[in-house]
Amino acid sequence: MGSIKDYFSGLGKGVASLVKGLEVTGKEFVTPKITEKYPDNREEMHVAQRFRATLQFIYDKEGNHKCIACGTCERNCPNGTITIETKMVDTWDGKKKKKLDRYVYDLGSCTFCQLCVQTCPTNAIEFSNDFEQAVFTRSKLVKQLNYLPEKPEPKPTPEQIAKFEAEKKAKIEAAKAAAAAKKAAAPGTAVPAVELDEKAKKALAAAEATGDPEKIAKVKAALEKAAKMKAAQAPAAAPAVELDEKAKKALAAAEATGDSEKIAKVKAALEKAAKLKAEKGNA
Ligand code: SF4
Ligand code: SF4
Repeated sequence: MGSIKDYFSGLGKGVASLVKGLEVTGKEFVTPKITEKYPDNREEMHVAQRFRATLQFIYDKEGNHKCIACGTCERNCPNGTITIETKMVDTWDGKKKKKLDRYVYDLGSCTFCQLCVQTCPTNAIEFSNDFEQAVFTRSKLVKQLNYLPEKPEPKPTPEQIAKFEAEKKAKIEAAKAAAAAKKAAAPGTAVPAVELDEKAKKALAAAEATGDPEKIAKVKAALEKAAKMKAAQAPAAAPAVELDEKAKKALAAAEATGDSEKIAKVKAALEKAAKLKAEKGNA
């Protein structure tokens, strides 16, 4: 009796399980189908924005990228997927600048960790979500990301040129001042400039004619020392006196000779005479 009861109990459970299963099947039978019709639905297909398919450069509307060839992404890539080739170019202000030549990315060895994107200081790269990257040969997975033609260096603005010129001038002035200060600080070089008379100039010219720099330096130093002493011993300049027309003509005639000694003598004599005349007039 007990076995008949168990039989029907098991049968009931089996039928209930069958109905439950058919219930799920029936529900799915009437549910609208969502099968992707790839590749026919390429245009409408939704791919998550954060899906990492391949690395690419971010180009602006003018076709410029922001990569400065710093190599940070290359250094941070754990797989050696990125290779950066650089070149040096001359800039308008005469300096050298490192520029990107080729940015090579091997999609075949990329693990999509995104370390390169996160460490780029200029946000020059990103991952696209273009998932169709299948190719028939591995070599085609190696891509040059800077594929657009390189733009020439931008021309400097007038303000930049003016700033550059001002800085250059300031640097030259600073260098000159530094050199002069150094020279003045050097022992034995701080001799104040003295005016050599004709005789001394001739002696210096004779020394220079020998071509011996040591001799020239010695003669020059001796002459300058003598001129300095002479200037120090000279009496204080007499107060200026007004020369009359006759005296002025005589002085002009002396000046025409070009002999400084003669000029000085004539000038002194004329000034002395004018002074005496003025004193007599006052008495
Ligand atoms: S995502 Fe990772 S593995 Fe791929 S290139 Fe960037 S750093 Fe290298
Ligand atoms: S992509 Fe970014 S990190 Fe890589 S070299 Fe260019 S600027 Fe540097």
